[in-house]
Amino acid sequence: MTKRELLAVARRHGTPVVVIDHDAIRRNYASFRRRLPKVQAYYAVKANPAPEIVRTLYKAGASFDVASFPEFMLVHENIKHLPPKERQDFIWDKIIYANPIKPKETLEALDQYKPLIVYDNIDELRKIKRYAPHAGLVLRLRVPNTGSMVELSSKFGCEPGEAVDLILEALRTGLVVEGLSFHVGSQCTNFDNFVQALNIAAAVMREARSRGHEIKILDIGGGFPVPYDSHVKPLADLARKINAEIGRLFAREIEILAEPGRYLVATAAAAIARVIGKAVRDGKTCYYIDDSVYHTYSGIVFDHCQYHVKAFRRGESEISTVFGQTCDGMDCIVQAEQLPKLEIGDLVYSEDIGAYSSASATWFNGFPPAKIVHVNE
Ligand SMILES: *Cc1c(COP(=O)(O)O)cnc(C)c1O
Repeated sequence: MTKRELLAVARRHGTPVVVIDHDAIRRNYASFRRRLPKVQAYYAVKANPAPEIVRTLYKAGASFDVASFPEFMLVHENIKHLPPKERQDFIWDKIIYANPIKPKETLEALDQYKPLIVYDNIDELRKIKRYAPHAGLVLRLRVPNTGSMVELSSKFGCEPGEAVDLILEALRTGLVVEGLSFHVGSQCTNFDNFVQALNIAAAVMREARSRGHEIKILDIGGGFPVPYDSHVKPLADLARKINAEIGRLFAREIEILAEPGRYLVATAAAAIARVIGKAVRDGKTCYYIDDSVYHTYSGIVFDHCQYHVKAFRRGESEISTVFGQTCDGMDCIVQAEQLPKLEIGDLVYSEDIGAYSSASATWFNGFPPAKIVHVNE
């Protein structure tokens, strides 16, 4: 979106405001599919759970990765022309429940949909057998996540050496393991993680086959990096590696899916805020804006993501600090940013803030989350 378009939204809706451009979402989805043509994209809803985004991506052809029962229902209710519930293949084609750990109440509620759900340990398997016996299973593997912005392998995934036993144990109890999954860590810029993970998955599949069980689905997870800065190599480079490994390691019949979250939505949103105060502290100009790290900028804390704050006004720039509106000392949006001299009432903005931002905003200090405005829906 251009600066002029952003300004128009802020004038019309006030601040703080987040603008989500659905044309950008459709472009990101199309670029993902073009570069990874064998891979069906299951959008990881937790990155940004706006129902408008679910509907746009569904219309574009996407499927969905959910991680809680409310997310499952959010998708279920927003995908139109849903065939009858018995059409289990439709549910599997459109939704994977990818959180490996689930409370029993969630399993009970999910069972009627005969969902495709992920597990990674024996206790979870017993729970699924008891509370969601109609589910199809996907086993999550632990894979290297060196250098990813958000690491996940200490929390989820079975050791590759335990995988085949967990598959055979599921079969013994009457459940079927349809697929394998992994997640190389979010914002993965070390593409070797994907290469290693694909090789680990292929080895598990071979061993399962040699012990009599064919795996049909491979879920290569999320982690597809967003170009937050110029050091991030483009998706095209990663896709070339993934396509080569998939072609080399897996039979053509294996259905491949991925769970991109941030890649589809991060670049589709910008946040606009207003300068509500200024001060000079230790010789540095400090601005206070009407958003915070407890709100749209929560990705700074939870996602380890640093956003740039930019001004609409031009002028000679100086190193400045931008603080959020709350009374917490850690509510600093950026310590050192080149900004022109700003006045109270001026607007500032941050781009590429569509993932893990509004999604984790709170009401801390009594400030409501920023208004969300959808354009080009
Ligand atoms: C968060 C998550 C994703 C999305 O990850 P991105 O790095 O945003 O692409 C995908 N799969 C699972 C299981 C997740 O937990």
